[in-house]
Amino acid sequence: MRYPERLLVLIRSLARLPGVGPKSAQKLGLYLAQHKAEAGELAAAITGVRNHIGVCRVCGNLAEGPLCPVCADNERDAGLIAVVETAADVLAIEKSGEYTGVYHVLGGVLNPLEGVGPESLNIEKLQERAQQAHEVILALSMTVEGEATAAYLGELLAPLGPRLSRPAYGLPVGGTLEYVDEVTLARALANRRSVAE
Ligand SMILES: [Zn+2]
Repeated sequence: MRYPERLLVLIRSLARLPGVGPKSAQKLGLYLAQHKAEAGELAAAITGVRNHIGVCRVCGNLAEGPLCPVCADNERDAGLIAVVETAADVLAIEKSGEYTGVYHVLGGVLNPLEGVGPESLNIEKLQERAQQAHEVILALSMTVEGEATAAYLGELLAPLGPRLSRPAYGLPVGGTLEYVDEVTLARALANRRSVAE
């Protein structure tokens, strides 16, 4: 037997989500088809995110409105900018609770093999912001691509004046910030070192 067409459409959509395989998609689809209240709540939540969550016009973090909560907070040091890859990295650093600066979300790292060049990342805006900053922390993954991106940004931003730093060693090699525990992350940021020029 075949599932009804609308249910198939739902299962196919679910299967395209990251981390959801065909089996889970089918399970979720069947569940939603049989639980109307939850299906309604989920549909409303998805529509809400689609219509109201966008990108902060200053830093590229997720925002409900023109500014993200960090950029809207006057207590934060706007002259201290941590450059990160994704909004998930912002969340990870915020959880550590000790960072007082602001962020700049690149939207990834340079990856020539996958066709990600500087023009695909949120770099132009970073150059503008760096001119007003006293320090830019390059808080990128300890992967080959993360290192290459940090080196590229270091050269690009050095002439603009801010101190350039990287989190201290202690972050896992090959790892992304998102999965580092809060204490390690807080320590790596607190003990950051200047990028040698
Ligand atoms: Zn922001």
